Amino acid sequence: MNKTIGIFGGGQLGRMMAQAALPLNIQCTFYEADTDCPSAALGQVISSQTEQGLQQFIQSADVFSLEFENTPLADVDLLTQSKAIHPPRQALATAQNRLMEKALFDQLQIPVAPYQAVDSLASLQQAVKTLGLPLVLKTATGGYDGKGQFVLRSEDQIEQAWAELGPAKSLIAESFVTFSREVSIIAVRGQDGEVKTWPLAENHHHHGILSHSIVPAPNSADLQPVAQDYITRLLNHLNYVGVLTLELFVTEQGLFANEMAPRVHNSGHWSIEGAVCSQFENHIRAVAGLPLGSTEVVRPTVMINIIGQYPKSEQVLALNGAHLHLYNKTERAGRKIGHITLMPNDSTQLTTLCRQLAKILPVPLALSEDMTI
Ligand code: AMP
Repeated sequence: MNKTIGIFGGGQLGRMMAQAALPLNIQCTFYEADTDCPSAALGQVISSQTEQGLQQFIQSADVFSLEFENTPLADVDLLTQSKAIHPPRQALATAQNRLMEKALFDQLQIPVAPYQAVDSLASLQQAVKTLGLPLVLKTATGGYDGKGQFVLRSEDQIEQAWAELGPAKSLIAESFVTFSREVSIIAVRGQDGEVKTWPLAENHHHHGILSHSIVPAPNSADLQPVAQDYITRLLNHLNYVGVLTLELFVTEQGLFANEMAPRVHNSGHWSIEGAVCSQFENHIRAVAGLPLGSTEVVRPTVMINIIGQYPKSEQVLALNGAHLHLYNKTERAGRKIGHITLMPNDSTQLTTLCRQLAKILPVPLALSEDMTI
């Protein structure tokens, strides 16, 4: 067994997948517009900008996967005429459209905030009447990290919201969820149908971008089996192979699903050091048809994104137990360019490490002083 895996996309997720594949002697190729991408150090990048690119990519590997959830379905359809891709097309198509996604959650009885499809000013006005305010208006396709969204708090904003997002044609209006925390669950399903789940991550955002994740999410013992049940329903229904992520809101009424990502996820980066088998290795194992590894936690972990500007590596690595991952991306405001993993012994040590980190990171983070682990 010496498979090559072709990956749609060549960002940091592809880079970390290929890093996990290397010890298994599995090679990766990547299909990406920019051949000087983060994955380039790990395998051949085939440009998606040339006419023969897709055919070359299809020839370049035995089995395929993706790190980019907006991978064009037309490309997947051409690929599947001759080769297999994991996760399945249906998972990708569903995750690309918030309305389809919500319909699937409904079908599988996974709770979601009340929502309505919006495709005209009149239907937006109707949604405001039915759902009440505040509500979140989102484009059905193409949005990420809070882009393509408008929080409507008063009826006066209806026309402005429609002017901003209306051109997208297909929108979804969701009731605004009053949540205490945002969490995500990541699971992997093998080709034999075996499912393994990592513990819930508690996710903190800063300006709409994931700032840091704490794993296991504190005080989540009662939430874990519920989240595990929801993601298992999705995996089995979709006959899924590989890693799937489900983002959830913690509310007084229980967990509400927000969205799913048919891929490895930023909130799972902790697992490289923090779990027996990382999300990246298990994804590769699943795609290659190998047995899955244990998702058990080695130690509670905090993963902190490096956003916009690099810190000095020597300062980060001088922190007790810190691991540094740099993605070889150019610095740009709001861009995820690396992450740091901390594995403190206890909450006191975590507070100390966070204080030290705050002095080192050029871009301030939403790290709170009273984080517990
Ligand atoms: P999304 O692109 O759907 O992941 O949304 C980005 C962020 O907006 C989420 O992480 C939440 O913080 C917030 N958000 C999204 N939908 C809702 C909602 N229905 N109610 C409250 N906050 C939301």
